[in-house]
Amino acid sequence: MFQEGVRTHKVAVIGGGISGLAAAYLLGRKFRGSIALYEASGRLGGKILSNRIGPAVAEGGPDSIVARNSIVSELVRDLGLEDEVVRPRSSKSYLWSRGRLRPIPQGLFGGYPAGGILPLLRSGILSPAGMVRVAAEVLLPRSRIAEGGDVSVGQLVRSRFGDEYRKRIADPLMGGLMSCSSDYLSAAALAPSLLEKVRSSRSVLLSSRKVTGPRQSVPFFSFRNGTGELVKRLAEACSGIDIHTGETVSSVEPGSGGWVVRSGRGEEYFDAVIAAVPAFAASRMLSSMEELSSRLSTIHYTSVANVVFSYRDGDFSPGLEGSGFLVPECEGLMMTGCSWLSSKWSNAEYPGHSIVRCFAGTPDSTGWSLLDDEALASWLHGELNAIVGTGGKPESSLVTRWDRALPQYRPGHRELVAGIRKLTPPGLYLTGAAYGGVGLSSCIADASMAADSAASRLSSL
Ligand SMILES: Cc1cc2nc3c(=O)[nH]c(=O)nc-3n(C[C@H](O)[C@H](O)[C@H](O)COP(=O)(O)OP(=O)(O)OC[C@H]3O[C@@H](n4cnc5c(N)ncnc54)[C@H](O)[C@@H]3O)c2cc1C
Repeated sequence: MFQEGVRTHKVAVIGGGISGLAAAYLLGRKFRGSIALYEASGRLGGKILSNRIGPAVAEGGPDSIVARNSIVSELVRDLGLEDEVVRPRSSKSYLWSRGRLRPIPQGLFGGYPAGGILPLLRSGILSPAGMVRVAAEVLLPRSRIAEGGDVSVGQLVRSRFGDEYRKRIADPLMGGLMSCSSDYLSAAALAPSLLEKVRSSRSVLLSSRKVTGPRQSVPFFSFRNGTGELVKRLAEACSGIDIHTGETVSSVEPGSGGWVVRSGRGEEYFDAVIAAVPAFAASRMLSSMEELSSRLSTIHYTSVANVVFSYRDGDFSPGLEGSGFLVPECEGLMMTGCSWLSSKWSNAEYPGHSIVRCFAGTPDSTGWSLLDDEALASWLHGELNAIVGTGGKPESSLVTRWDRALPQYRPGHRELVAGIRKLTPPGLYLTGAAYGGVGLSSCIADASMAADSAASRLSSL
């Protein structure tokens, strides 16, 4: 490979989740050498797993993509997926709080009541005492809590709006995607606008009143065949790439002027490596680079599970319009949320049935992992029944368990990632959910940067 004269550059992409697939595809568009992709499991997609119950798409992983950046829209267009796009039918969702499902008012997802306190008051999510504490924020002196650097979303929110707001609103809403209490999450990474407000103004509520103009809703989408369609199309578009599934990479080490990759295929040499695996897997693979490997190992992960139920019509009728609900951990349930898939997505329709997905798992709530699939489904059905009063039993259920699925962006995450990037030698690129965002669109954006960096380095060799 490194012979003079006839040299073709080679790149290894490790990990066949959305990050690895997107990186391989985007690199392949601008790089003329050869690309090999290694995926440890027998299938591509990583956390993306679009199952079926009858004709309905029953997602075991992500069910929606946020069109947050142009790279995602370009990718959808390039892959000819525009006609496959489906959008949620409702953005209305609920919180299970104080014995009832209560509509979530707009403007709460940034960590503070951006829509003012009246909608929050009307929602009844907080007790009268909790509401008084929120309103008292306007009287508090300027906070010094974030002056020394990053803090947790929980600390920040608690200091301004009280602990009930933190438990009943910030935990499920801010921690929802990451299945994690807001006390574990970095404000700089996940609530930057709240952090900025706390730093720059005496009162968050008073400074938020100055914001005018309509709020834009976030454009979520999926595909007719579920998010798995993106994986299928990417894999098809990667036809020039050597894809090795069932191939675990055990180590990546600098050597021979490039990189030595060890897997079941033996030792292979590459000019550049894009590692698109979870941080703990990258830490193992890169153990010869001690400092880098040790920092990667400090990124914690949460294990989660979900069960997709199919109920016969009449056996599930929440009597509410919407896409589902979230459950704050302080309610003491195993369930962290529930998505009414067949109400939310046209791709989850199953005539005569309702398709519903229940989630479990946070860093402090791991009881679900002690139950077998049948017991887990039965438990979550029981909790759902207690909340929405399902009449009968589910006709079928599909359990998906994800071990160490979601990275926790703890306080200091951005500095940690900056340190990791600094320690990463030229020719090695780390990408994936662990670094710049957990959602699919953030993964695609980060993968695109990794592909660009690799392409520009190789063009200069
Ligand atoms: C239940 C659930 C619901 C979610 N819902 C949403 C949602 O609705 N919207 C959204 O935007 N995001 C959602 N997410 C988050 C999102 O799905 C993930 O963050 C994203 O898919 C991660 O992609 P990735 O490629 O970085 O990592 P992964 O998908 O984890 O892919 C990494 C791949 O690397 C492989 N690998 C690991 N080690 C090795 C090795 N040594 N050698 C070779 N291969 C290796 C693994 O087998 C895996 O396939 C959800 C996640 C979960 C778990």
